[in-house]
Amino acid sequence: MEKQKFVVIGAGPVGALAALYAAGRGFDVEVYELRGDLRDPQVVPLNFTRSINLAMSERGINALKHANIPGLVDSIMTETIPMHGRMIHGVDNGSFTEESQNYDIHGRFISAVDRAGLNKRLLDELDKLPNVKMFFNYKLTGADFRAKRAWFEERSKPLTDHAQNPSEIQDAPPRATEIEVAFDFMLGCDGAHSAVRYHLMKYTRMDYTQSYIDTLWCEFHIDPTPSTAGTSEGDFKISPNHLHIWPGREFMFIAIPSSDKSFTSTLFLPAHHFAHLDANPSELVPFFNRYFPGVAGRLISESDLQKQYTENPHLPLITIKCSPHHYASSAVILGDAAHAMVPFYGQGMNAGLEDVRVLFSFLDAAAPTPEGRTSALAAYSTQRTPDASAICDLALRNYQEMRADVASPIYKFRKWVEEKLSVAVPRLGWATQYSRISFGNQRYSEVERLAQRQGGVLLWSMTGFVGLLATGAVYGAWAWWRWNRAAATSRGLLKGGIGLTAIGERIGRVFL
Ligand code: FAD
Repeated sequence: MEKQKFVVIGAGPVGALAALYAAGRGFDVEVYELRGDLRDPQVVPLNFTRSINLAMSERGINALKHANIPGLVDSIMTETIPMHGRMIHGVDNGSFTEESQNYDIHGRFISAVDRAGLNKRLLDELDKLPNVKMFFNYKLTGADFRAKRAWFEERSKPLTDHAQNPSEIQDAPPRATEIEVAFDFMLGCDGAHSAVRYHLMKYTRMDYTQSYIDTLWCEFHIDPTPSTAGTSEGDFKISPNHLHIWPGREFMFIAIPSSDKSFTSTLFLPAHHFAHLDANPSELVPFFNRYFPGVAGRLISESDLQKQYTENPHLPLITIKCSPHHYASSAVILGDAAHAMVPFYGQGMNAGLEDVRVLFSFLDAAAPTPEGRTSALAAYSTQRTPDASAICDLALRNYQEMRADVASPIYKFRKWVEEKLSVAVPRLGWATQYSRISFGNQRYSEVERLAQRQGGVLLWSMTGFVGLLATGAVYGAWAWWRWNRAAATSRGLLKGGIGLTAIGERIGRVFL
């Protein structure tokens, strides 16, 4: 086959890694990015007010390793901060409380990584490769996947402004000249509002769903402690080795550490609460004091809290699923373009980077012909669409765990049982769902299946156990009743039965 030209759309983390994989295999690679070069200090990363930190875990790291670039992973990991567990914040008798919950009984951890730092590092690697050309401020506007031609607007004025909503950028009025580009294979890594996906739909019978949850997010910033005399910089205000959560049952506030000793925090709140606080700004601090104790005044000054709430955008959370992810031999979508998910499992970027590793494992195994690539892409779509769908669902479900279950004794009991079993009887192969997702590379759909099976076994064991207890209790009460012959006892039994049913219901919710 003639030397092939791979065109990558989007130079986010997924696009940059995909370009590195393609270039490493000797293809001619061109990367087209709508925005300016992230390494230019004028350019603000898409969707965030500043560079933010994300949780990176095994799948993302494994995909970076498979790029086979000496020193790449080490240089990225030295800039990360290990997060060994969640720190659950609350209040008890007027005092602030913190409860550390380790992620993993084997001591494994996830890492807080600066998203822009990671992205820039990948772009720097691309710069070194002679077979890669990068085009910033180029917006994909059209594509013909049969003729293998694409059209771009070359934007005369770079988009350096902060976008309230990424779809607004796609719709921004043209300030540009159009160019036509020929390609052999297009990799669409252009995020949740993907233009590649939009054009792909015209060529393949793509099933597509998108749904919003009734929660918006707003970013906050927790500064380091002020520097004291003799020290050049301050310190972390709270433990740097945890992902901090203030669970609020229907909503939550979280904080992730940054290497400059600050924290990026996020408020997740139903839209009607945002509307209420927007209309009643004086209620913001009391709201925080009530639900997120110790944040207002202690971690973020009250005036800063108010300012950040007002100035930072309140953004939606979307889930996007589609199938297939490819067309013939000429196009595939990866990352958020193929599967945008809510951020509650910390897997969006990890899953996108994993897409790249999985895709190239299929391409590497295929014949180096267009027909070979067609089969490889079909096989990739068949494997990856159920996995993408599974992690989208798991991420949605994990919101319940983060904002409410982390404080529930039943959740903690299940975690304890699963972890103890994983150590005591390793051949059973038990593990928590979290550790399978974050510390392994098992397919997401397989993890979902195993977690459901484990939950089922636990539920039945617990039901058996509770059943035995209940039988014993009923028998004891019956004997007592016979002995006393008191009618009041039957009312007690009735109440006990209702209580057991309620407990059973709660257990079922956590296990299944
Ligand atoms: P993007 O990062 O969206 O990059 C797409 C690129 O394509 C952009 O640079 C864009 O400018 C460009 N582009 C768009 N349209 C065009 C066009 N027409 N032509 C050319 N270029 C175009 N993930 C985790 O793994 N861990 C976390 O802890 C985590 N936390 C998160 C917290 C929040 C609040 C949010 C919102 C997300 C979080 N994520 C997390 C998800 C993560 O940010 C995304 O999954 C990840 O950035 C997706 O990368 P991507 O490269 O696929 O897309």
